[in-house]
Amino acid sequence: MVGISIKNFGISFGEMEILKDVSFSVNAGEIVTILGPSGSGKSTILRAIASLENSYDGDILLNENCLICKNECNKDIGYIFQDYALFPHLNVKENIEFALHKLSRIEKDKKVNHLLKEFDLVEHKDKQSHELSGGQQQRVSIARAIAYEPKILLLDEPFSNLDSLLREKTKLWLKKMIKELGLSAILVTHDQKEALSMSDKIGIIHDKKIVQFGTPKKLFEEPKNLYIAKFLGDINILPFALAQTFFPDITKEQKAILRVNKTKISTKTTKFTTPYILKEISYCGDYSELIIVNKEDENNFMTIRQNLEIDVFINDIVYLEFKEEDIIFIK
Ligand code: ADP
Ligand code: MG
Repeated sequence: MVGISIKNFGISFGEMEILKDVSFSVNAGEIVTILGPSGSGKSTILRAIASLENSYDGDILLNENCLICKNECNKDIGYIFQDYALFPHLNVKENIEFALHKLSRIEKDKKVNHLLKEFDLVEHKDKQSHELSGGQQQRVSIARAIAYEPKILLLDEPFSNLDSLLREKTKLWLKKMIKELGLSAILVTHDQKEALSMSDKIGIIHDKKIVQFGTPKKLFEEPKNLYIAKFLGDINILPFALAQTFFPDITKEQKAILRVNKTKISTKTTKFTTPYILKEISYCGDYSELIIVNKEDENNFMTIRQNLEIDVFINDIVYLEFKEEDIIFIK
């Protein structure tokens, strides 16, 4: 298996610096996701790894020693483009076998038939890309990349064109397939849920850099700063006085936060006696989302995601309930 390391990577387009001093490693067999907002340079990193972008600083290494040569297509690397980039004049079968020109007809057929079966595309094999749904096009594009037998798979927002039901199904399927084939994968996305559920590790881009790199659990539970905490999921910031009861030395710049699903309400006074007024209730199926506002400080709102087993109504007085161990302290 092959791992990949990005060392002190930096790139500018003209006067505009896009990324600086980006370093991270993907161990063999791992799925690493680079998470960042649109325009933060995610596709640019993948393009550089695939040698489609050549004027950058730093090094890209395969297995810690074999340097990726700029301008040279590396057959160990498979690239799945955001828009799938299928050849429109070729049918499904021809798209998949495009890269296999060195094989004999018999070998080619054997391999393509196997992939058609594996990717559930047998009945679509003669169709052209405009005759396929988004999910089918995506499967063709992945099958085409896999046909090369790459060791590293680069995936650029692979689920962005799929509707939510298909997205969930495809996520599980793709993760299983990457693991079964023993590939190392770099996935880029702006979708934090996708990153959390797909990855062994996540790197978050902010201000041209990777600001934190680690397992999804580590990033979610121990975010390095407020930006990361908010980017990975909705949060409530505890009022300063309440935060002080847990962290007596807390400064105004530091924050004590709670995830929204860890913040609950009670109609009876809890050990947090500050009264809140219930302002909004939205039924969301699995849970209800509530907005409460501090009776003594109308700037202090909190969002609650709770399975409501108590009868509450708008304008009721309610009290906060949460576990101390769920508080995340942001330095
Ligand atoms: P992301 O994939 O995170 O949305 P990109 O990597 O596509 O972001 O782009 C990052 C920034 O670099 C954007 O501002 C984009 O306009 C710019 N950019 C990307 N490629 C080029 C290029 N070849 N020439 C000039 N600017 C580019
Ligand atoms: Mg992109």
